Amino acid sequence: MTGQRMPLLFIGHGSPMNAIEKSVYSEGMKSIAKQLPTPKAVLFISAHWETRGTFVTAMPHPKTIHDFGGFPRALYEVQYPAPGSPELAQRVQQLVHSVRIELNDDWGLDHGCWSVMKYIFPKADVPIVELSLDYTKPASFHYELAKELLPLRDEGILIIASGNIIHNLREIDWERMDLPHSGYDWANEAHHQMVKMITEGDHQHLIRYDQQGRPFHLSIPTPDHFIPMLYIVALQEKKDRLTFFNDSIVGGSLDMTSLMISE
Ligand code: ZN
Repeated sequence: MTGQRMPLLFIGHGSPMNAIEKSVYSEGMKSIAKQLPTPKAVLFISAHWETRGTFVTAMPHPKTIHDFGGFPRALYEVQYPAPGSPELAQRVQQLVHSVRIELNDDWGLDHGCWSVMKYIFPKADVPIVELSLDYTKPASFHYELAKELLPLRDEGILIIASGNIIHNLREIDWERMDLPHSGYDWANEAHHQMVKMITEGDHQHLIRYDQQGRPFHLSIPTPDHFIPMLYIVALQEKKDRLTFFNDSIVGGSLDMTSLMISE
């Protein structure tokens, strides 16, 4: 590392099948990966690790967790054997003052993490620490907590968050999962507004996502897949550039839109 400031990534992960199926989204991730410097380690915020309290994985060898049901066997056979980084876990614990960060030794890497890391660092040779989402806390808590992580960008740590800015599985149209740009009207409207808010740095409206009317209500029935994006925009600084990729809604109500923030 040469003291280069690390970029930030928010990645829409969508269906777990994206982990084993070649798609425009996997290709989009691979092409973004080519633009990344090699980090010392990754701090990963996944929609799929919700806890009471805030934890970081602190084990040297996190296991690959297959946290889903009813998928083909090939998906359960995926392993992503990246090492952990007890050192980074302790650094995060030391850095965050607003809340006590607890060290965890029984989680691992859930599919929100490995289904995208497979494409970002296919050799699984970059250490990863996951940071959990405290589901008892409001969006503003997550946004403020994220800001405390800022020094990591100058310490060779790549911060990646993964979820989906629009994620309504009840409304999903499985027949249109392979169809890009197949959003319902309300999803397209919410998407348009979210992209505008992100582009203009209007984070206050994103934090108050639950007060933005019907398109947002339908798009974010639960906040778990939306909140990870807040961690990334919270860390954006004035001179940073925004790059959207995989910008598409599939199945009516699942937004794959991803974001890189870089100097
Ligand atoms: Zn998910």
